[in-house]
Amino acid sequence: MKKLADIGLIGLAVMGENLVLNMESKGYTVAVFNRTVDKVDKFVNGRGAGKNFIGAHSIEELCASLEKPRKVMMLVKAGKPVDDFIELIIPHLEKGDIIIDGGNSHFPDTIRRTKYVESKGLLYIGTGVSGGEEGALKGPSMMPGGSPAAWPAVKEIFQAVAAKVEDGEPCCDWVGEDGAGHFVKMVHNGIEYGDMQIICEAYQLMKEMLGMSADEMHEVFKAWNNDVLDSYLIEITRDILGFKDEDGEPLVEKILDTAGQKGTGKWTGVSALDLGIPLTLIGESVFARCLSAQKDLRVEASKVINGPAAQFEGDKAQMIDDLKNALFGAKIISYAQGYNLMMEAAKEYGWNLNYGGIALMWRGGCIIRSVFLADIKTAFDKNPDLANLLLDPYFKEKVEAAQVGWRRVCATALSNGIPVPALTSALCYFDGFRSERLPANLLQAQRDYFGAHTYERLDKPRGQFFHTNWTGRG
Ligand code: NAP
Repeated sequence: MKKLADIGLIGLAVMGENLVLNMESKGYTVAVFNRTVDKVDKFVNGRGAGKNFIGAHSIEELCASLEKPRKVMMLVKAGKPVDDFIELIIPHLEKGDIIIDGGNSHFPDTIRRTKYVESKGLLYIGTGVSGGEEGALKGPSMMPGGSPAAWPAVKEIFQAVAAKVEDGEPCCDWVGEDGAGHFVKMVHNGIEYGDMQIICEAYQLMKEMLGMSADEMHEVFKAWNNDVLDSYLIEITRDILGFKDEDGEPLVEKILDTAGQKGTGKWTGVSALDLGIPLTLIGESVFARCLSAQKDLRVEASKVINGPAAQFEGDKAQMIDDLKNALFGAKIISYAQGYNLMMEAAKEYGWNLNYGGIALMWRGGCIIRSVFLADIKTAFDKNPDLANLLLDPYFKEKVEAAQVGWRRVCATALSNGIPVPALTSALCYFDGFRSERLPANLLQAQRDYFGAHTYERLDKPRGQFFHTNWTGRG
């Protein structure tokens, strides 16, 4: 075993343990520490037995066991614990050493912490780590941002542990300054919310409108996973629908229909509202979880409020094909909106984001990994200044082709009283985005009417503002 470790890690919970095992398997020696110190020896003598780990029983011991520049990574509960550990680590580091936060921190915290740690002469990295515990062990998608000077020192180890796509490219590259890595990870999580919601809407339509069994749906998802929708989330949905409980019945049908959330989808929506970006699909996905959580109220309402009873008399096979197109079209919109948000954030926070590189980082190792991301990478490789994914010739053609079936799905769902908030809001965004004229002229008139907010005119140069006395009263 080496005398000094290549990197130190604080936080031996599921993510931390798996990530250090991954690092060690790539030939690195890792020093480990945990707030509840008992867990250090338990790990080093348990899952880590016989491997290149150095168990540290204090922060001081951890920092003293590291090669310079020292790299101390935290994988602890996001929030105050991260700030607390930063304070504990700083006295044991020296100029050029690096503190890394691999947890799900909110990007404004990472912006603040980068400035603070840099003010102490040290470097900081806030990195998104996606792919859950399995990803951490076998190869996560990693999205690092922070002090640019820190990247060369951690690049080799990060790219060694990250997932690789077929051509061997690692799903990890430098994202940008201060909070950029955690911002991109947050958008990743928002897109994850959106992808999950549209899949759930397709499931409800197949079940309630087409009367399909879990086994039949399992077959549909299996087929979809060999086509344009090929992705981790379609794959696990296929498996979930095929999974039987002990009595031979599909387990999914026995699960309470109230969705939980940890907040990253909400952060994405809040950020979109702050930056004025129409992130409708992800927003609806967050609200769909909120509505699902109102279970008792829904049960009560279901007893007293009537709507159409779902009945489908059309071509079932055609509707299943339409559903595939609806999912594909909505997915394109979701990414177009997510990228739009990242572009605006880059302007707002002064980041120089590599959009093709981000698609590559999401291509493997993470929850939203899909074949589709390779096409996003290609779109940004062809045009790094692409203003909206829908303006890329490939995606424009795909979404135009998908809209026929997608419109049939939304129309049928609405007339049958089946809620499809994400699929419909994405379609409305698509129609709004391709509209030269929206009814905001009337809206401006309303604002001017009650609040003298003024308006610009189509027949006058932009930047000239007019006010009308709409009532003729003084
Ligand atoms: P976690 O439950 O979020 O955190 C557990 C770790 O944080 C333990 O080491 C724990 O120490 C420490 N900790 C908790 N409260 C603390 C406090 N007040 N002060 C100091 N340390 C404290 O563990 P996790 O699920 O492995 O996640 C680690 C990070 O990765 C989190 O930010 C999480 O959001 C993020 N993440 C998790 C996943 C996932 O699938 N689980 C996926 C991606 C990202 P003790 O052992 O002493 O309690």
